[in-house]
Amino acid sequence: MAEFTMELNDEQKEVRDWLHGFAADVIRPAAAEWDEREETPWPVIQEAAKTGIYSLDFYAQQYFDPTGLGIPMAMEELFWGDAGIALSIVGTGLAAVGVLANGTEEQIGTWIPQMYGDVNDVKVAAFCSSEPDAGSDVASMRTRAVYDEAKDEWVINGTKTWATNGGIANVHVVVAVIDPELGSKGHASFIIPPNTPGLSQGQKFKKHGIRASHTAEVILDGVRVPGSCLLGGKEKLDERLARAREKARKGGMGRVKNAAMATFEASRPAVGAMAVGTARAAYEVALDYAKTREQFGRPIIDNQGVAFQLADMRTQIDAARLLVWRASWMAINGRPFTAAEGSMSKLFASETAKTVTAQAIQILGGNGYTREYPVERMHRDAAIYTIFEGTSEIQRLVISRTLSGMPIR
Ligand SMILES: Cc1cc2nc3c(=O)[nH]c(=O)nc-3n(C[C@H](O)[C@H](O)[C@H](O)COP(=O)(O)OP(=O)(O)OC[C@H]3O[C@@H](n4cnc5c(N)ncnc54)[C@H](O)[C@@H]3O)c2cc1C
Repeated sequence: MAEFTMELNDEQKEVRDWLHGFAADVIRPAAAEWDEREETPWPVIQEAAKTGIYSLDFYAQQYFDPTGLGIPMAMEELFWGDAGIALSIVGTGLAAVGVLANGTEEQIGTWIPQMYGDVNDVKVAAFCSSEPDAGSDVASMRTRAVYDEAKDEWVINGTKTWATNGGIANVHVVVAVIDPELGSKGHASFIIPPNTPGLSQGQKFKKHGIRASHTAEVILDGVRVPGSCLLGGKEKLDERLARAREKARKGGMGRVKNAAMATFEASRPAVGAMAVGTARAAYEVALDYAKTREQFGRPIIDNQGVAFQLADMRTQIDAARLLVWRASWMAINGRPFTAAEGSMSKLFASETAKTVTAQAIQILGGNGYTREYPVERMHRDAAIYTIFEGTSEIQRLVISRTLSGMPIR
């Protein structure tokens, strides 16, 4: 087990500086344009592919870093550049992790390369879980997958919503219900290969922020996929369902739910790190501005009212990063999340991003409110962090349930 450290090692520092360079030179200058266009920034993704940032190798290297700091460091730097573009770059990684976590070696080898495409023909992937009537309440999902034994095929029907890269992805990973009696334990994930008939894009959402990231509904109408597209395979699914049914029969669904919760605890710090990146970006703009903008014959930072805001902003950002790094270290080292430390880090970092970006607008005054300066975009972007991957309210539910052991509603 790696010791917890707040110091990046030399190799990590090198990667961080390389990512920072990409974020500063390629992502940040393109941010305003793609925010206005509200389209996937394919040329930037391609540029990231050329440098190796948009690849499974890079993502896996950070993901399996034993210190746990690889992913949070990478997310912070990329999202410092711009949240919408960075989400377009890392969105595929989120779908790939679904396959890495649940797929067989063959599935990983077959599908993950198709998620990324190659340098000359980049592709993206989508992870589709949320539905119009199943957002926070994942267990109420309705998309059904039924096994056609004669053909060894799964038939999938339903509507997914809010899918990042939904409909434009080469490969979609779709979560569907196999046994509705078992709640979220009766769900399974499927690969939907490129150009599968029956899968189509529904509405593309026009959003408040992260507008360079494509978000859309995904319609699944009689989609048929081979048995080999069930992540983990049928045998493993049958064993898992049998265990869940047995536990349900004995009234043990509580423990079943906790296993699913552990997975979320491990993935949420990554979203916290994205929020830290956006918050830091806005704070840096505000600090520079406060030191150079003069009113009443002196820089505005000379006023405690402004300087103390910056002090609070930086304190919150550093505290958020510490919570994120702690939770990421715990996740990679298999430490139990006895106080829901993963949720804690996501909650604090996302709320920090919202507060800090709003304070940055205030410090820039009228300029902060315009699109001539990036902080209004950062503020719009920051609003997503308290919503996706579990809203702030859901994080508080998880934390309070974990602390109390009570079924708080
Ligand atoms: C830009 C964007 C990208 C996304 N990307 C993806 C993706 O790639 N794949 C995917 O599957 N999903 C994705 N999502 C979906 C996202 O995870 C959901 O929006 C989120 O889980 C919340 O669900 P909901 O929108 O249905 O809100 P609801 O669950 O309807 O919540 C509405 C409000 O009620 C509150 N609330 C609900 N239940 C409780 C409770 N028990 N106690 C207290 N408050 C409660 C919530 O906190 C929230 O404030 C994305 C969403 C957005 C906006």
